[in-house]
Amino acid sequence: MIIAMDGPAGAGKSTVARRAAKALGMHYVDTGAMYRAIAYGIVKSGTSEADAEAVVEQMDIDVRYEQDEQHVYVAGEDVMPFIRTQEISDAASRYSAKPYVRAKLLETQRQIAKTYEVIMDGRDIGTVVLPDADLKIFITANPAERARRRALELEMRTGEKQNVQAIEAEIRERDYRDSHREIAPLKQADDAVLLDTTNLSIEEVVQEVCRLAEEKKHA
Ligand code: C5P
Repeated sequence: MIIAMDGPAGAGKSTVARRAAKALGMHYVDTGAMYRAIAYGIVKSGTSEADAEAVVEQMDIDVRYEQDEQHVYVAGEDVMPFIRTQEISDAASRYSAKPYVRAKLLETQRQIAKTYEVIMDGRDIGTVVLPDADLKIFITANPAERARRRALELEMRTGEKQNVQAIEAEIRERDYRDSHREIAPLKQADDAVLLDTTNLSIEEVVQEVCRLAEEKKHA
């Protein structure tokens, strides 16, 4: 079974996909982390945007599953601890619009879906990467609610009060950039189920995803 899960930043995709994958005995594949890893590799190398293509072509990227957790290695280094900063989020959003970056990851992502039963989350999984997925889910929530959730998560992690309005502005900007880029823009696949989580708890969303998966399995 292959499940493609797309949606905008902060909709809860990764938390939901991780928990649902566990419940369903599948692999959770986080493609955002792969884009972040490439962005990290570019930033770390100090390369300008104009020279990034050659750096990406040469970049040694490896995706591994260790104790069911995905790790992305760049030149042999596990970059997972370094890719959640604001700087890398912005760079990932910018570089993910480059055709050479998307081309670099496409085959890796398809190969993973051939190797394992997966819930793969991202922006273009149901539309571009896995158009034949058994189940496609488009997860979203309104920007104010996504900003509230993100602020809460940051407050828990850092202990510092967050500016929800500023976070909402960033979310709207990233949504715009992800949905308006020329290549693989964020959009709901025609045959995807729309799941608006604005008024649902994470648990309710996980249950709904599991229900949809079971329904497909027995269809
Ligand atoms: O999901 P996450 O926020 O970790 O993704 C980081 C960035 O990578 C997003 O802003 C988006 O631009 C990009 N991305 C993408 N296609 C995917 C997954 C992520 O363009 N399949």
